[in-house]
Amino acid sequence: MFDIPEGMIYLNGNSLGPMPKEAPSAINAFLIDEWRTELVKGWNTKNWFIKSNLLGDRIGSLMGAINGTTVVGDTLSIKVFQAVAAGLAMAPKRRVILSDNGNFPTDLYMVEGLINLRNAGYTLRTPNPEDVYSQITDEVAVLMITEVDYRNSRKHDMKALIAKAHSVGATVVWDMAHSIGALPIDVTDTNTDFAVGCTYKYLNGGPGAPAFIYVAPRLLDTVEPALSGWFAHEAPFAFDLGFRPMPGKIDRMRIGTQSIAAFTLLETALDIWDDVNLYDVRSKSIELSEFFISQVEAKCQGLTLISPRDPNQRGSHVAFQFENGYECMQALIAQGVIGDFRAPDVMRFGITPLFINLDDIEKAVTVLSNILNDKIWNKPEFHNRSLVT
Ligand SMILES: *Cc1c(COP(=O)(O)O)cnc(C)c1O
Repeated sequence: MFDIPEGMIYLNGNSLGPMPKEAPSAINAFLIDEWRTELVKGWNTKNWFIKSNLLGDRIGSLMGAINGTTVVGDTLSIKVFQAVAAGLAMAPKRRVILSDNGNFPTDLYMVEGLINLRNAGYTLRTPNPEDVYSQITDEVAVLMITEVDYRNSRKHDMKALIAKAHSVGATVVWDMAHSIGALPIDVTDTNTDFAVGCTYKYLNGGPGAPAFIYVAPRLLDTVEPALSGWFAHEAPFAFDLGFRPMPGKIDRMRIGTQSIAAFTLLETALDIWDDVNLYDVRSKSIELSEFFISQVEAKCQGLTLISPRDPNQRGSHVAFQFENGYECMQALIAQGVIGDFRAPDVMRFGITPLFINLDDIEKAVTVLSNILNDKIWNKPEFHNRSLVT
């Protein structure tokens, strides 16, 4: 179902998923049948105006959300900002946002920007991930947690964190960047307040594919859209001078005009997920990850596993520490085994069962062990740092 270059072993679907085979014909049909043929009529005739909702419902079905609670659009950084701002408005007397120091930095940066903008004495606390639970107190307005650590793949117990947050009256923003499409997750069962995520990682929506935001149905009447764009208005085409949020609907979290071309690619990627059971994906991911870890530990001296050894404590990527991790990853990439590197010394490997099997894992480990045994990573060409690692 994916068009992956011949000979490449792609272990980076946790960062950017591969292209669905149907993507070229879908984007071509969008260009010719929709943009060229319909032009501006397409907002009605091709449902462009409600595509953020239609795609939101399809993503919602991958995380236990009922229809009408999820929309796609913008980028994850923006959706984090929206969700945290909305959460703060729900606890106007509280001044603490709790996250952890394993979160992806942009989530923390967006909160920093929000705090500066509000200028009302908010603080962001970033304890070690294992200390988050004990730091959930009645000072906390918003608990902003990314379930799976982008570096070492450590996984939080979201159900426990959400329950504790609710017991002290805090609101939860669950970042699913490394969860959606990798883990069976359920926003309804866990009673989460806000969930956000991106669609270009495990969902394979393409580079820069739109993000998503979920709001619990019980909050839809009151949630405050801090980024109050016209797509969130009760009557966008009344062109009123004042903003009135769409009452009781997830449309409140829409902002403005989105890339319909990008929506088309996401739609094509989601077609694949229609027939996928996330419990199957998870058990296969664990099987492949366990095999990968055992093979690397048996054949690749110098690499140290920094992901949790218990598969139930991990997401769907595996990380190893290696002093010359950057150079080693460059050498791997040169031989068609694609992972990535995170400073200072982490090599990451995404385990994505939709397009990776045991044979791929075995071949990748053989390449890696040859690179280590022959010190191929030490060649000068592997020492140049690119803009993106
Ligand atoms: C990948 C990722 C992002 C990326 O944010 P963008 O706005 O899409 O660039 C943000 N947060 C987390 C936790 C991520 O894993």
